[in-house]
Amino acid sequence: QTSMKNMERELVCPVCKEMYKQPLALPCTHNVCHVCASEVLLQHGHLYCDPTSEPTSPAATPSTRSPRLGRRVVPKPDRLDRLLKSGFGTYPGRKRGAVHPQTVSFPCPACQRDVDLGERGLGSLFRNLTLERVVERYRQTINISAAIMCQFCKPPQLEATKGCTECKSSFCNECFKLYHPWGTQKAQHEPTPPTLTFRPKGLMCPEHKEEVTHYCKTCQRLVCQLCRVRRTHTSHKITPVLSAYQALREKLTKSLAYILSSQDTVQTQIAELEETVKHTEV
Ligand SMILES: [Zn+2]
Ligand SMILES: [Zn+2]
Ligand SMILES: [Zn+2]
Ligand SMILES: [Zn+2]
Ligand SMILES: [Zn+2]
Ligand SMILES: [Zn+2]
Repeated sequence: QTSMKNMERELVCPVCKEMYKQPLALPCTHNVCHVCASEVLLQHGHLYCDPTSEPTSPAATPSTRSPRLGRRVVPKPDRLDRLLKSGFGTYPGRKRGAVHPQTVSFPCPACQRDVDLGERGLGSLFRNLTLERVVERYRQTINISAAIMCQFCKPPQLEATKGCTECKSSFCNECFKLYHPWGTQKAQHEPTPPTLTFRPKGLMCPEHKEEVTHYCKTCQRLVCQLCRVRRTHTSHKITPVLSAYQALREKLTKSLAYILSSQDTVQTQIAELEETVKHTEV
């Protein structure tokens, strides 16, 4: 079973070390945020121009910006001028089929290979929508999981995997063992699935100061008993926190496995192609 920490590692951009924002799929099977990719190109002297996006695209809104952008070094005008004159990189207004077509090579931060992006640069790459959805799902899962952590762990808390009706508590595997030592009366306690009802103080609804018990799928947020009867959630899909979490987590594990396996497939195909090329050359 994939742990949440392992999962998170697969969802982190090799450039900004944060979870992917609008990831682009590189031909070497690695991914990099849209913003980070343009930053990498800029650092390598390419003037960045993405023909597929307008300045008003989500990539340019402050909320999706990589924090590193704040420290971005903007080329000085004279350097810009020189770059333009040398025909280096891509820039607005360049005509297709110019006399000296310049292909953009992208140094992949994950495998250190120089990936050929052709003339269109980043515009030739596809946005990895599957990965984007997985990241979104992961965020939701993490959101919910805050409500069902082990009550006894020292931080970082582990996910609660067992409950005990007699102790009126939820535990992770380790803490359950620790609080029910072998050979004592407590060892007789039967573990149940973890529930929220034992929690002395669970996550509170900021609006009603009531404990959250359910998850509204439509609003993608945790709700309390009072929220549930509110008109805002009428006809919304509302499920108990625990089952919402388990369902999301399962989906997440599956889609992550899918992404990883399709990466393997691409790698195999590349290897096979390289083999074929070798053989045809001989
Ligand atoms: Zn990034
Ligand atoms: Zn790579
Ligand atoms: Zn624990
Ligand atoms: Zn117990
Ligand atoms: Zn509420
Ligand atoms: Zn709702």
